[in-house]
Amino acid sequence: MPTASPYTHVVFISLDTLRSDAIAANPFKLWPGRYPGVTAPRTAVLDELARTGAFFPNMISAAPYTAASHGAIFTGQYPLRNGIHEFYNGRLKSPSIFTYGRRAGWATAMKVDFPIILGPELGFTRDIDEYIVEDDDKFIVAMTSASHAVGLAHFGGVHMPYGFHNLCYGGDDYRDKVSDLERLVPDNVPPLTDQLVESFRDSADLDLLLRYKHAVNFLYEAGRYDEIFQLYLEGIEYFLVNRFAPFLERLSEALRRAGARPLLVIFADHGHEYDADTYGHFNSMSEGVLRVPLILVGDGIQAGLHARRIRTVDIVPTVTELAGLPSSAGSAFDGASRAGVARGTSQLTEDAPTVAEAYTSDTREFVEFQRQQLSGGRPAPLRHVLVGQAAYLGDRRLTRRVARYASGFAGIESVDEIVVERFDETLVPRLEPDADPGELLNVLSDYRATLESAPPVVTDEELRAQLRSIGYPI
Ligand SMILES: [Zn+2]
Repeated sequence: MPTASPYTHVVFISLDTLRSDAIAANPFKLWPGRYPGVTAPRTAVLDELARTGAFFPNMISAAPYTAASHGAIFTGQYPLRNGIHEFYNGRLKSPSIFTYGRRAGWATAMKVDFPIILGPELGFTRDIDEYIVEDDDKFIVAMTSASHAVGLAHFGGVHMPYGFHNLCYGGDDYRDKVSDLERLVPDNVPPLTDQLVESFRDSADLDLLLRYKHAVNFLYEAGRYDEIFQLYLEGIEYFLVNRFAPFLERLSEALRRAGARPLLVIFADHGHEYDADTYGHFNSMSEGVLRVPLILVGDGIQAGLHARRIRTVDIVPTVTELAGLPSSAGSAFDGASRAGVARGTSQLTEDAPTVAEAYTSDTREFVEFQRQQLSGGRPAPLRHVLVGQAAYLGDRRLTRRVARYASGFAGIESVDEIVVERFDETLVPRLEPDADPGELLNVLSDYRATLESAPPVVTDEELRAQLRSIGYPI
């Protein structure tokens, strides 16, 4: 028998790459200061969810890329503890929300748009009864055919190619956009090295994606960051109107017909941005990349906006408490439950401390790795390096850059740059050039201590004498 719960269905919805301030209902905007003149997207479906649910617009992700970010979200543990901290390496080893759901007798389902990343290779399909690639309706059927279910619907539509995801979802609009973009690119621009893909594609789809990326790469090299950001924001609106809103309507209707009492958990894994040091998100510690939204909607959830900082590792502690799903031990979580805040019985009184890190690989090595992987080979593990870190304490944050991609992504250079910022009353980070970084640096070194291997214990005569004195017969 499924465990008693106020809900019968817990539906996680991951809007990959949606920065929090792209939602119109979020009053704390970062992007207009960076890209003045860029037009905001209309986000009616998200505004409505944010208005009716508990909206946390200031949630910090543990990593700026998909695998490590989702690993932290599903386990409630930081990347260095749960098994996945690098861009594409490791394996999710800690129990996840799906482990807890399955133990409680609930069905589990996962629908992803990026099966190469959120798939079996990195351990994401463990404890999943039904794993679905790109088929939104199959997910709705999988969720509503069980009396109790916990599932994830992951959407790649906000990610590049912005709004479209693939030919199936983008169709002629996608083809037309690629043609428009190619008119911006002079004929003599060399092909790009970043040929990474996140999902399996046929040749027509792959060709279109690479042409789209080629145009974006040209704009990037030319420093036309605001134009790429505009494409990103337009893509959000396109995705929400053409795919997400209809999906949500069909899901809600199916849940209603099934007599379900659903809890919706809508979130993003990381944001998106462009500047000299940020190419989208994977190599960045920008606030616009790390700050993501969380919206909880369901019976017993009080409508409200909660501006104090929370972390993506808080999601599963919150949801297991709200849904009454037993987890192995609350103490296994790095995050904390915000269930009382979501129910309206308590308030966030402070900004939670947190960390984020990015470990990435040389782009050319990754392309070769993926070529071998996609042709059925078993490539050696990809080499990763730490490129950036962020620490948050109170109203300050520190970012540390320890590596930087060379121009055109030709290799990675070591650097060491530290920046301290303080958040103003609108949650915009402002430079604090004279701030003492000591306390914030301690947060980073304490976190990384997890990675250091312990030195061997030396057993000398003094130690043996001490052990004897407390009763060991040695
Ligand atoms: Zn992602």
